[in-house]
Parts: sequence; C-alpha cells; structure tokens
Amino acid sequence: MAGAEVHINSKQTKLFDVIIIGSGPAGYTAGIYTSRAKLATKIITGTLPGGQLMTTSEVENYPGFPNGIFGPELMMNMRQQAERFGSSIVDDEVVEVNFQTTPFVITTHSEVYESRSVLICTGASPRKLGIKSEHQFAGRGLSYCATCDGPFFRGEDIVVVGGGDTALEEATFLTKFGKSVKIIHRRSSLRASKILQEKAFENPKIEFLWNRVVSDIKGNDKKIGEIIDKDVNNGNEQILSAGGLFVAIGHEPNTSIFKDQVDMDDKGYIVLKNHTKTSVEGIFAAGDVHDYRYRQAITAGGFGCMAALDVEKWLTERGK
Ligand code: FAD
Ligand code: NAP
Repeated sequence: MAGAEVHINSKQTKLFDVIIIGSGPAGYTAGIYTSRAKLATKIITGTLPGGQLMTTSEVENYPGFPNGIFGPELMMNMRQQAERFGSSIVDDEVVEVNFQTTPFVITTHSEVYESRSVLICTGASPRKLGIKSEHQFAGRGLSYCATCDGPFFRGEDIVVVGGGDTALEEATFLTKFGKSVKIIHRRSSLRASKILQEKAFENPKIEFLWNRVVSDIKGNDKKIGEIIDKDVNNGNEQILSAGGLFVAIGHEPNTSIFKDQVDMDDKGYIVLKNHTKTSVEGIFAAGDVHDYRYRQAITAGGFGCMAALDVEKWLTERGK
C-alpha cells in the first residue's frame, strides 16, 4: 500500500505499518496477507528478489500446480499477488536495523524507513566449503547454483558436493549438460528424499564418491581443471579432472544484520516464542530464517501467512 507512506520529518523517513525484510515465499505470502488486510506494507527484497526458488528449475511439490511450475515463475506470481493488494516492493538490501527504538528503523543502501512492526523473512544462503581455493574459483567453474550456471558446462566433467535434496536435484539436472557428473558426499548414506535418490541412482551419468570431501581445487586463472578430494577415514587423496564444481551443502541463515537485536540460536537461526514472535515485541519472523527443520516453499509460505496474521492482531491490539 504505497499510498500509505507517511513523510514524518525533514529526512522524509517513510513510516509503514509493517516492513517485510526478504522476498522468498515467506516474505511475499506475508505481504499478500498484510496488504490485503489494509496494512501499509513495504517489502524489501534483498539481493535475491524471489528468494531461493529463483535458483531452481521445476518445483513439483508446491500445491496447486499438478504439472509443476518453474521456481522463478512461481515467485513472480507471488510478487504480483502481493502488489495486487497494495504491497510496495523495493529491490534493495537492508544494511542495518534498530529494534531498540519505536517506530523501528530499517536502513537500506538508499533509504531509511520506519515501521510499527517488522517481519524478518531473510531466509538462508548457500554454505561454503571453507577451503582456501574456493573463493579463487567462484564464478570460474565453481558455482552454488546449477540452474543458473548448468548450461555453461556443456560437455564438461562435473563434480557436485553434498548429499541432500539440492545436491541430487542439481546433479540430475546437470546430466543434461555435463559429460559426467560425480557426487562427492562426506558420508556413506544420503540425506536426500527417496524419490530424488532413486532418480540419481538410476541415472547412468551419475557416479557417487562416498566418504569423501573436497580438499583443494586447481586450475588456471580462467577455470577449474582439477579437484582434489580426500577420504575422510584414511586421508587418502585423489585427483579428479573436472571443468565444473557445484557446491550444494546446505544453507546458513541470513541473520548477521539482526545480531544483538533479536535472540538467535547457536547456528544463527532466529528463535521464536509464542508462535511467530521474536524476543522483541513487534518484531516477527517467518520461513527458513528460523525454520531449519522443514525448509520448504510451502512451509515458508505458511509461516509467512501465520506471521502476517500475528502482525495484524498485534497492531490491532495497539489501536492500529
Ligand atoms: P528465501 O527463499 O531464502 O528468501 C530469503 C529472502 O531474503 C531473499 O529474497 C533475500 O534476497 C532476502 N534477504 C536476505 N538478506 C536480506 C537483507 N539484508 N535485506 C533484504 N532482504 C534480504 N522447496 C520446495 O518446497 N520445493 C522445491 O522444489 C524446492 N527446491 C529447492 C531448490 C533449491 C536449489 C533450493 C536452494 C531450495 C529449494 N527449496 C524447495 C527450498 C525453498 O526454496 C526454501 O525453503 C524457501 O525458498 C524458503 O523461503 P524463505 O522465504 O524463508 O526464504
Ligand atoms: P541439507 O538438507 O542441509 O543437505 C546438505 C548436505 O550437504 C548434507 O548431505 C550434508 O552432509 C552436506 N554437507 C553439509 N556441510 C558440508 C560440508 N562442510 N562439507 C561437505 N558436505 C557438507 O541442504 P539442501 O540439500 O540444500 O536442502 C535444504 C532444504 O531444501 C531441505 O529441507 C530440502 O528438503 C529442501 N529442498 C527440497 C527439494 C525438493 O523437494 N525437490 C529440492 C532441494 C531442496 P550430511 O548429510 O552428512 O549432514
């Protein structure tokens, strides 16, 4: 509801009923509910407008689409649905928050906003391998997103790291382009769902390297050439010739800007109490930023809905 922006001082700070930080399924769903409830709603998208599903191809398990739907299409639909009810959406990143003062203050690269309530929906980002050469080869054959970069690896020998749904889904997708796909996993059993495991086991282009981790990456200044991987039990290393490395080892919550502002657990996930409330009155959270158990689009959207209803009730109780 962009028309409800209030210019409250000479700095032209804009006051909203609710500011939603993040634009994945949680953020957009929350925006649909809060703007439909006539709350002045601002959604700040962050650097990945649409969230994690923008980095995937087909989503087969989101209800309502019997033939599946492409992740980016689903997220564009959600964005348009939030806008239809009046959510004001800006493609910007929040760099600082102040939850110690009311209205709460949200600072982005280009604006300072004030809001009666805030909904944190900042989700999670790809986990890094943590080896020295990783940074050197990022964007030079090392990728965290097969959907984005897979087509650049036609005819290459590709290595994928991880044993979860993402690793198996990405490996299967990458067989469309690569000459071969090897999956390096640190254990001898997979975390991925059975259906994705079956697909990967049946795929003749996919080979599993069990109980191994990537210890180094070699190449020239343009591209990866070799991946060194190590047996976790005896430390024996081997060299794999590869033109691409896809890291799919999970995600970390995007919560660094909320440090010392709301309570978090030891892994940095936001801790909720009393449904979707955080440790600060008026600050709510939804989606992968607090939920490390389910981490699905439908659950993130569901949490977004719950948090929006809680925001609405909380504001109503305070006379809004
Ligand atoms: P996210 O989608 O992570 O979105 C977080 C948002 O916060 C982003 O828009 C980001 O830009 C924003 N943000 C972060 N920091 C800031 C900041 N400082 N300022 C402003 N904004 C910020 N789930 C399924 O149900 N089905 C699937 O098929 C499926 N496939 C997947 C495939 C892949 C490759 C991946 C990685 C995940 C998949 N998932 C799938 C999981 C699903 O994508 C997530 O559970 C879901 O996107 C979480 O939604 P979210 O809204 O909590 O956060
Ligand atoms: P995940 O389930 O956390 O799996 C991460 C994998 O990487 C695990 O196998 C883990 O090993 C491994 N790993 C973690 N840190 C590592 C490290 N430092 N070095 C080497 N390996 C490491 O993450 P995800 O696969 O990205 O999935 C995230 C969520 O999205 C899940 O809830 C998943 O169901 C969902 N998702 C769903 C779909 C779908 O439904 N089609 C597709 C993709 C993702 P261990 O197993 O040993 O811990």
